[in-house]
Amino acid sequence: MRSDGIRIDVVTIFPGLFEPFRTTALLGAACSAGIVDLRLHDLRDWTSDRHRTVDDTPYGGGPGMVMRPEPLVDAIEALAGPRGKDRTARVMLLSPQGRRFEQGWARELAHERHLVLVCGRYEGVDQRVIETAIDEEVSIGDYVLAGGEVAALAVIEAVTRLIPGVMGNPESAETESFQTGQLEGPHYTRPAVFRGFEVPAVLRSGDHQAIARWRAEQARNTTQRRRPDLGRPAGREDER
Ligand code: SAM
Repeated sequence: MRSDGIRIDVVTIFPGLFEPFRTTALLGAACSAGIVDLRLHDLRDWTSDRHRTVDDTPYGGGPGMVMRPEPLVDAIEALAGPRGKDRTARVMLLSPQGRRFEQGWARELAHERHLVLVCGRYEGVDQRVIETAIDEEVSIGDYVLAGGEVAALAVIEAVTRLIPGVMGNPESAETESFQTGQLEGPHYTRPAVFRGFEVPAVLRSGDHQAIARWRAEQARNTTQRRRPDLGRPAGREDER
């Protein structure tokens, strides 16, 4: 791995779900270039019984199964050491109960050198895993997935594309949605006319200042129309 790269360990019972992402598109190129060192770990490798059991029935009864604490905590500590001030990795559990993941957090994580992402399944993980080994819980939105893998991939993709050298043109990150506190405006490519809809003349004018002004205005309008909450001072959510 390059000295300015990031190592990301993923703990999951389905490491195969990540393989196509590790070898394809931007992330695949970043892994090949050594900017991202994505390591996939099968949680079952930290079990000790013949059936490689990772779950058990919940205390108190109820539906579903719960992920056992021993293999999870053993895996996390093997990859990141025990929780405390000497730990240099950030150990994050994907969970619908976590803090909502957003662009500002992705930007912050892009400066880290080592993340450990822990994927839950079933009804989730035994609470003592969170209390003893997890640094923070991350949610990708107010809905419930069957497992943390898709959520971990969302975090990995959002974070790694912001690391210098991953995107071909770093400028695209500077102007895109959320980076500037607003949404980006519309994009067009050839042909100039498609089904009667014409590309705005200013974009074909070659006048770079006029284009920049038009884009800024479009971004403002799009944001006001679709996400008027963006950029509003905290505590004004009631105005949504
Ligand atoms: N019983 C849990 C609850 O009601 O909060 C939901 C468990 S969910 C079926 C199984 C796993 O999927 C979770 O442990 C978590 O790792 C992952 N997951 C589900 N929804 C998620 C979300 N919105 N963000 C991040 N991870 C999520």
